[in-house]
Amino acid sequence: MPHLKLHIPGPVEVSEKTFRAFCSPMIGHRGQGFKDLYAILQPKLQALLATKQLVFLSTSSAWGVMEGAVRNLVHKKVLNCMCGAFSDKWFDVSKRCGKPAEALQVPWGSPIRAEAVDRQLATGQFDALTYIHNETSTGVMSPLTELGALKRKYPDIMFIVDCVSSLTGVPVAFDELGIDVVLAGTQKALALPPGLAVFACSAAALAKAATTKDRGYYFDLVEFQKNAEQHMTPSTPSIGHVYALASKLDDILEEGLEARFERHRRTNQMVRDWATGNGFNLFPEPGFESRTLTCVNNGARSGGRTVDVPKLQKLVKDQGFLIDGGYGKIKGSTFRISNMGDETEASMLPLLAALDAALKQV
Ligand SMILES: *Cc1c(COP(=O)(O)O)cnc(C)c1O
Repeated sequence: MPHLKLHIPGPVEVSEKTFRAFCSPMIGHRGQGFKDLYAILQPKLQALLATKQLVFLSTSSAWGVMEGAVRNLVHKKVLNCMCGAFSDKWFDVSKRCGKPAEALQVPWGSPIRAEAVDRQLATGQFDALTYIHNETSTGVMSPLTELGALKRKYPDIMFIVDCVSSLTGVPVAFDELGIDVVLAGTQKALALPPGLAVFACSAAALAKAATTKDRGYYFDLVEFQKNAEQHMTPSTPSIGHVYALASKLDDILEEGLEARFERHRRTNQMVRDWATGNGFNLFPEPGFESRTLTCVNNGARSGGRTVDVPKLQKLVKDQGFLIDGGYGKIKGSTFRISNMGDETEASMLPLLAALDAALKQV
């Protein structure tokens, strides 16, 4: 099967260098080799998240940690901030964990504003909230700094934040934000294969987790902390991922975080310009568009151009690229293009040329 270059919003394209690192010879996860590997990674992960807390490695996709955070940190009731498929699902997941949960739903395409969150938290019913920084299904980036400012008003409420498709694409300064959990899967902006998540917890989150009954074992935050202090993980990790992460962190720090953010901004702008230049408009509310992917409106109802999205995808696929045809209830009325990970202006050009060629035929 010829490889299709991935421009779907996860998993994204993985570099040869990362794959080579992934395939390093196996080592024991309780041996000095692994401890040394994690010890070298730790300060680099801390730099990535701008945190002094230990950064944990979970062999799971992001949902493992998303579910685990709810199990560890909700005693009373959780407020699930919902603005798209992933954030909406967190409400369902919270209930499946047996936790009292309430939805703060905004229309898909809108961001979550701190003001709306504040109104809910002020009721005093909640001891935790879930929030997705970059809602990948709608291409909306909610203002995380605003949420962080709100945390100061509610120090005892656990702010659990998903940065799955934003981490390394835009700044996420964990300590400065003051939030309690930040998590990301590695197959989005980090451009590693799927199967690993990285996350950090505030001291308050770790203290609260320690008082939580029935928090299970695999995603027990206290276990992660105890093990990370010894440069280990609670259970056998995907060691290939840890090697790949080590290689990727070197790439990221060599490029420089600021340069990486700026590169994502530029490649994202190319896609936005392509869309608007061809008569489309963007799905997100203006001012809240993601910088790691673009969710393009399709159809006259949006005031823009209409194309046959499956046909567009097929024509692009025939030229070697995979784009996404819209997620959940906005499938077909939107399509999405990722610029996450290693993409450069030069590497985006062939995709945009393929899209141009396809547009002539749809
Ligand atoms: C992809 C994604 C997830 C889920 O990741 P899994 O790897 O399927 O667990 C969660 N949140 C956001 C914002 C995502 O983009």
